[in-house]
Amino acid sequence: QVKGQGRGAACQYSAEMAEAAAHRRRLEGDLAAALDQDQLALMFQPVVDAADERITGFEALLRWHHPELGTIPPLDFIPIAEDTGLIVPIGHWVIDRALAWAARWPQHVRVAVNLSAVQMEDVDLPVHIAAALARHRVTADRLELEITESLFLAEKPVVQQLLAELTALGLNFALDDFGTGYSALGTLQNASFSRIKIDRSFVKRATALGDDASAIIQAIVRLAASLDMATTAEGTETRAAFELCRDLGCTQVQGFLFGRPMPPEQATALVADLAPA
Ligand code: C2E
Ligand code: MG
Ligand code: MG
Ligand code: MG
Repeated sequence: QVKGQGRGAACQYSAEMAEAAAHRRRLEGDLAAALDQDQLALMFQPVVDAADERITGFEALLRWHHPELGTIPPLDFIPIAEDTGLIVPIGHWVIDRALAWAARWPQHVRVAVNLSAVQMEDVDLPVHIAAALARHRVTADRLELEITESLFLAEKPVVQQLLAELTALGLNFALDDFGTGYSALGTLQNASFSRIKIDRSFVKRATALGDDASAIIQAIVRLAASLDMATTAEGTETRAAFELCRDLGCTQVQGFLFGRPMPPEQATALVADLAPA
């Protein structure tokens, strides 16, 4: 009995694995054509100043509109793009599109773009970004690159070199999802980072549980302030979460309370009449 059950479970398991592998191969194949066939799109989510609740910028978030499978979220295809190397041309496209939209916004409204660790080894990235900034006449200080903390990332010479070149262009860097990874405090000493984005799991816990969880946010805010860095609280979904983060000293907030990721035309309309603070 036990033996039979075990074998059955093993068969089912391997059938599921085979199915998952086939699905992944399909996505790999389809993703190669997605860029040429105009299936990728950017959405923009507002980033808001905690003190006056005005929009200071937008984060560009990638979507894949698959012709048969519908909209696929980034967490489902970015890993595939990384493994196949497609993240490099896709990343160039994201920067180009993000800057094309930023060019239509008031000067003080910034745009943030996510970079994956694989892109931190794309030696063509600085030249590509410089060309895109010039093409769209956007100043470098309006572009913020979000990089997820990773211990290994910072130690590679090729990554250090790239960070130095990007910093020389005058770009800003944000440490994304802070607190979730291999918390590389050493990375913070890298002067090129000007912002820490506090992962939404901390915001959620602090809002639900109060003091102990809040202490973590407060510690991150203090750390950031002492290094002259700004802090964005991610995932502020409610007024209570926002007020908590603001009172703990976060300088910016981002979350469904102030706007979900939206099509570029809508984002552009939101800031059309916005005068600089
Ligand atoms: P991220 O950079 O941390 O982006 C924030 C994610 O949190 C987004 O998910 C956003 O929709 C979601 N979010 C924002 N506010 C709230 C909220 O109030 N509540 C909740 N529950 N979620 C909120 P999304 O768009 O699915 O992106 C997921 C991740 O995919 C991003 O995390 C980023 O790491 C990656 N990603 C997205 N676009 C790109 C891209 O162009 N290139 C690269 N390399 N990675 C990207
Ligand atoms: Mg991000
Ligand atoms: Mg994030
Ligand atoms: Mg996050």
